[in-house]
Amino acid sequence: MPRTIIVSNRLPTKILRTEDRLTFQPSEGGLATGLGSIYRQEGNVWVGWPGLFVEDAAEAEYVGEQLRQDSMVPVFLTEAEIRDFYEGFSNSTLWPTFHYFAQYATYEQAHWEAYVAVNEKFCRAVLELAGPEDTIWVHDYQLLLLPALLRQARPEATIGFFLHIPFPSYELIRVLPWRQQLLEGMLGADLLGFHTFGYMRHFLSAVSQLLGFSSQNGQIETGSRTVLVDAFPMGIDYERYVQAAASETAIQHEATYREALRAVRVILSIDRLDYSKGIAQRLRAFELLIQRYPEWREQVSLIMVVVPSRDQVAQYASLKEEIDELVGRINAQYRTIGWTPIHYFYRSFPLEELASLYRLAEVALVTPMRDGMNLVAKEFVASKADQRGVLILSERAGAARELSDALIINPTDTGQLAEAMHDALVMPEEEQVARMSAMQALVRQYNVFAWSKLFMGRLAYSKMKQHTLA
Ligand code: UDP
Repeated sequence: MPRTIIVSNRLPTKILRTEDRLTFQPSEGGLATGLGSIYRQEGNVWVGWPGLFVEDAAEAEYVGEQLRQDSMVPVFLTEAEIRDFYEGFSNSTLWPTFHYFAQYATYEQAHWEAYVAVNEKFCRAVLELAGPEDTIWVHDYQLLLLPALLRQARPEATIGFFLHIPFPSYELIRVLPWRQQLLEGMLGADLLGFHTFGYMRHFLSAVSQLLGFSSQNGQIETGSRTVLVDAFPMGIDYERYVQAAASETAIQHEATYREALRAVRVILSIDRLDYSKGIAQRLRAFELLIQRYPEWREQVSLIMVVVPSRDQVAQYASLKEEIDELVGRINAQYRTIGWTPIHYFYRSFPLEELASLYRLAEVALVTPMRDGMNLVAKEFVASKADQRGVLILSERAGAARELSDALIINPTDTGQLAEAMHDALVMPEEEQVARMSAMQALVRQYNVFAWSKLFMGRLAYSKMKQHTLA
């Protein structure tokens, strides 16, 4: 029976090394949940890096055995591979370029070579498992070369690819020295999925201008094959956030926070530390709010959660310093004995505590400079059982294409952002409910299960069509 093989850089698991043993913890990410129903089916597997450097062959064997029991197959990477392939090419070349921060991108031949080598390593791991007729679904920017590598070895396989980050304008792609190989790598797939039509159009334009392949209605003719391209906005596990927000823990935490904050109203911001998230601009906008509208002082606080991320990459370390400094300066300048303008947390929270913050906040500020989708926006919406609360959303987050009932802003326009915060704080309750209920209907329907089903269905269809054409 044909099987489905999911491939991503990271496996949906965390392995922690303590003094004398390894502990395995399922990871809570949205992707893991969305694909859970696929990879856990009889015979199916998920292939990826388990996030651990193994010490010897015996340990590798043990980890492999444990993971296989939960339908996972590890690809072990060395420290040098993580440095050059992951921190190097993936996060210092592709990530900044695809998020329109080309000025941060580095172009190192050694990083590129490691990227090729690791993609080949993933290819070998998949080929060990995959039969000629299997379906392989490859995920994200760390594995752009994998579809073509697999295609070479398994011409008949059904191969899907989904990009979880933006696909930028051709003008950014053309800057990359390895642009041609990267596009050709992606075109090994039968179906290429993006979060939005905008990203999809950028991809089609890059393929046309750099490889000379034309397309019609999202179908690219490469000469030898047809590749289908489409938009599949990824959703969340809606019910999980509804339940987390209704949980005893979330309610209790919210009560504790409310007591500590007394009557102060809350604007919430939650991100991974990343220059694409617009964190510093958001802080300046909050400062502008309390300058322009002094009546909000002592009435409103910003709760800002920044999750540590990629601190091995230089730009992330300096961004952290900039945020620390801004928070320190704004708090020092405006605070009073009873009021802290910004409550800043540099750490991550478990789901139920996040849910308590979503409950607590009247306004969520999701203002990235660029973001493939942004799940925090959707989680906030799902958590608002009473349908009150206002989402302020950047026009440059993929989520803005769906959540048109948010207050949509340009994240570089600090003035507009400050006004949106003011508007949100004075928005009549009926308007909040109208906007929130419309967004909830959408986020509930297009959840992560619908997303993976839609993609898999379309992939099967694209293959069937190719067979009919052949
Ligand atoms: N998140 C979390 N703990 C935290 C903060 C965030 O688990 O303390 C989760 C959040 O619930 C969301 C994810 O991290 O599911 C962030 O996804 P998003 O698409 O917003 O941004 P990304 O980090 O993928 O760029």
